[in-house]
Amino acid sequence: MLNRRKFIHRSALSSLLAAIGLGSTACASEEKTIETPKGLTKPSVIATWNNKEANQTAWEVIKNGGRALDAVEAGVKIPEGDENDQSVGYGGRPDRDGKVTLDACIMDENGDCGSVCFLQGIKHPISVARKVMEETPHVILAGAGALKFALEQGFKVEEMLTEKSKKEYEEWLVNSEYKPIINIENHDTIGMITIDQAGDISGACTTSGMAYKVHGRVGDSPIIGAGMFVDNEVGGAVATGVGEAVLKTLGSFLVVELMRQGRTPQEACEEAVNRIAKNQHYKDIQVGYCAVNKAGMHGGYSIQPGFSYVLNQQDETELFDAKSFIKK
Ligand code: ASP
Repeated sequence: MLNRRKFIHRSALSSLLAAIGLGSTACASEEKTIETPKGLTKPSVIATWNNKEANQTAWEVIKNGGRALDAVEAGVKIPEGDENDQSVGYGGRPDRDGKVTLDACIMDENGDCGSVCFLQGIKHPISVARKVMEETPHVILAGAGALKFALEQGFKVEEMLTEKSKKEYEEWLVNSEYKPIINIENHDTIGMITIDQAGDISGACTTSGMAYKVHGRVGDSPIIGAGMFVDNEVGGAVATGVGEAVLKTLGSFLVVELMRQGRTPQEACEEAVNRIAKNQHYKDIQVGYCAVNKAGMHGGYSIQPGFSYVLNQQDETELFDAKSFIKK
């Protein structure tokens, strides 16, 4: 819980932030970021899409004085374990061969990170990614190697393909047409950034990837700097949407670097989307970014309308509809 000393500090902090123009939450593009003075941080949880329950779960950890890393892992495990979320973990849509293959990554305040990709049969890939970070000298484990490692770490193999996702896949097989659907029907990957009461940041991203992808395909979500990036001096960013476009521009790293150079989270997300929109065939795809800086300013932007992100900075969870490059 926030103790009295911290509360007084926070109140004084809020006035100071307001005085220097960092106090507002939603950031208009015209606002300019002032470098966050050391210690002036705001506990926050931000996640892609309407992942309110995940946010609330992460927020509880932070509210109780927990570490940002524990919060972000606990948060994203919610959609991973939810069979109705067909883009993440258990219940995720399969690839063209009918296999559910999972990608996830995690990063902490020290810049340490872990990732798994093309992992099958494990419900919580984010926890395996954390083990890669904490128990190995490596960053990424893939496929059979990642599974072998997970089993050694005590994870159990389970069937990830649910009846619902199997039935949809069988219907898809009739025409086998690969057409990514622009919004939530096909992209509800969760990317989450957490900032704890000590002012430390962590991030996570987890997905079953694009539905009906080529067997073996890995997207942006498990790639540090593409699907997610955090920097304890600056803030963090996460991506959702067509991973190939995010990979080609290393989008989350770009957003964080732009914030470091003085852009607000909103401006940085807009620039990262503009890079894709300028250089690629973007009209039929969706990519969305959301970001938060250490002072708690936040923003989000996408190519197509329809992207939203969810934020906790107090006890309530607020959903924001992001602006988009292509207007409604
Ligand atoms: N970015 C994910 C991927 O390309 C998919 C998504 O966000 O929907 O695997």
